[in-house]
Amino acid sequence: MHEKEAREVGGEAVYDELARWLRMVELSGTREIFLSDVNLAALGAVSSGGDSGVAHNYEEEVGEGGLLESLLPEVLACSRCGLSKTRRSVVFGEGAARSRLMFIGEAPGADEDRQGRPFVGRAGQLLTRIIAAMGLEREEAYITNILKCRPPGNRNPEVDEICECLPYLEKQIELIQPEVICTLGLFATQTLTGIRDPIGRMRGNTFEYRGIPLIPTFHPAACLRNPSSKKLLWEDIKKVMRRLGLPIQGGTKHGASESGR
Ligand code: URA
Repeated sequence: MHEKEAREVGGEAVYDELARWLRMVELSGTREIFLSDVNLAALGAVSSGGDSGVAHNYEEEVGEGGLLESLLPEVLACSRCGLSKTRRSVVFGEGAARSRLMFIGEAPGADEDRQGRPFVGRAGQLLTRIIAAMGLEREEAYITNILKCRPPGNRNPEVDEICECLPYLEKQIELIQPEVICTLGLFATQTLTGIRDPIGRMRGNTFEYRGIPLIPTFHPAACLRNPSSKKLLWEDIKKVMRRLGLPIQGGTKHGASESGR
C-alpha cells in the first residue's frame, strides 16, 4: 500500500466512517460499547473502498469550492436503502447554495415526493411563512431533510436509512457552510446533535454541529397539529434571527404564530 493510500485509510475518512457508525449505534439505542467490538479494519475498508463509500467519493470528487450541484447525480441515482424502491422522487434540497441559514427537516412527504422539492405541502407552507416572517425570501435559505426519499406512508425514518443518507446531508452542510442550522423536529435534531432527548427538552437550547450553531425547533407539521407550540417555535426562530443579525419586529406580526393552520 502506498503512503498516500495508507494515510487515506488511516486518516480522516476512517474517522468520518467511525463517527457515522457510532452515530448509528447511538441512534439504535445502544448506550455503551466495548472497543474490542469495533472492527477498525472493516471500517477502513469501507471508507477506502471504491464502490459505494460516499464520504470517500465526495472527498475525491467534490473538493473545497466544489459545487453543490455536483452531488446531485449521485444522490438522484442513490439506491443505498430500500426507500429507493418506493420513492417517486429524490428530494435533494433547494435554496441558496451559499445560504447563511439551513433548515433541516425529517423526510419528504407525499407532496414533496410528487414534486421533488422539500417542504411544499402544508408543513412546507408554514415553513415558507416562517421564513417570510423572518424578513427573508424562501430562496434565501437552504432547505433540506435528513432523508432524501419519502418513507412509505410517512412512517418515521429508520436508523439504517438515516445512516445511509446522512453523508449526503453532511456534504451539503460542508459545501454550504451556513452560519446557523435550524433543525425542524425530533429526527433532525437527534441526528445532528447525537442527543436522544425529546424535542421539547432540546428546543430552547443552542447546540453545535461541526462548529456551526444548531438551533432546534418543533417541526412545522407538529405545530399544525398543536398550534400552541407555534409560540415556542417563534422564540426559537428569533434566536436564529439574532444569530444572523436579522432585525426582529416587535409586537405580534409573525406568520409563524399568527397565521394559523
Ligand atoms: N416534512 C419534512 O420533514 N420535510 C419535508 O420536506 C416535508 C415535510
